[in-house]
Amino acid sequence: MGFGDFVGNSSAVGRLREMLARDHFPQAVILAGAQGSGKYTLALMLARAMNCLERPGARAAGAHAKEEGTGSFAFDIAAEKDDSLKDPVTDGLPDFCGRCSNCVRIGQALHLEERCAEAVEARENLRETDKKETRIFVQTHPDVLVIPPDPPQMMIKVDQVRHVIQRIYYRPAEARESVYIFTSSAFMKEAANSLLKILEEPPGFATIFLLTENAGELLPTIRSRSAIFTLKALGTEELEARLAVARADWNAGQRALVARLSEGAMGRALRFDLEGYIAARSQALVLLRSAVGGGEHSEQFKMTESFRAGAEGRQKMDALLRTLYLLLEDVMFLQSGSAQLVRNRDIAGELGKLAEAADFAWMQRAAEGLAEVERGVRRNLLRSLSLDAFAAALEPAR
Ligand SMILES: [Zn+2]
Repeated sequence: MGFGDFVGNSSAVGRLREMLARDHFPQAVILAGAQGSGKYTLALMLARAMNCLERPGARAAGAHAKEEGTGSFAFDIAAEKDDSLKDPVTDGLPDFCGRCSNCVRIGQALHLEERCAEAVEARENLRETDKKETRIFVQTHPDVLVIPPDPPQMMIKVDQVRHVIQRIYYRPAEARESVYIFTSSAFMKEAANSLLKILEEPPGFATIFLLTENAGELLPTIRSRSAIFTLKALGTEELEARLAVARADWNAGQRALVARLSEGAMGRALRFDLEGYIAARSQALVLLRSAVGGGEHSEQFKMTESFRAGAEGRQKMDALLRTLYLLLEDVMFLQSGSAQLVRNRDIAGELGKLAEAADFAWMQRAAEGLAEVERGVRRNLLRSLSLDAFAAALEPAR
């Protein structure tokens, strides 16, 4: 357990650990990167490295030097003294053990979706009046607070930031550094302004992480008070190689497919629901075959009929629409001679047939038709009807 488990982006991770080693860790850090690129995983690793009771690889001076103002001099002496004791498996930069009580408790926040679902459920069980005033937080360690977007709007709200303001000026109780992790940059306006107040004068013992897919979504005044690190996408081949270890149950073709669909994000690849995707894709192909060829429709009607009302049907519908867009894009890549960009290569033959049968005007009508189906989904139109209408409108005139 340690930074060695973090996949890719070694230079960004290295720089962050260097700053930790030199006690120059910024008070506010923006971690930017696509969904699944490891922002949250990395923030929790850094929180553990700051507070690990064993702190492999780190030298003794630690975070307190900053508070006492003793600076780098004391740190240098300690570094020399400890060199002989250096753990041979580490690279000398601060790491974390994953086993001490701080590491274990902070690590419990890793499954963010589950922790958020628990917090939301706890709120649901409150009295109506309390429900309105309760905001969602994830806190598995007393000094590490995770602030996710608050449902149903899925925005960071001003009450959440106020809660942070109330706590952040108190020294941590069981950690060296208190850590605050905002998992989204979707701030309500007032919330963003309150956050700015904290960033103007943050206490020396607190570190704030702001996670975002795009740093440009944050106020320029917030960005200018933070150090920005961007996590880049991994190459498809590197992702495939990692999946060969992590998902040995998938065959090479499946790993290649997931790697291309995950766009270089390891977290997305690991969480990828391959079975669900293949199911949605075969439904999408039924629909596209019908739309391109006309003729026999019994297979299509049987398929669209299964799209019923309710939350489960909605999810299925969303998955189908996403997959339809992906397949149309792949068909377009084939038509424009960019076969190397095709993601669903395992069904290249089938995509090739579609590419031959569909001309430019058809592709345009298909994209418009899909947008129409999406609008219908939002207006709660009958899903099966929307899908049948989509296929029928695309059929060649007879
Ligand atoms: Zn530890």
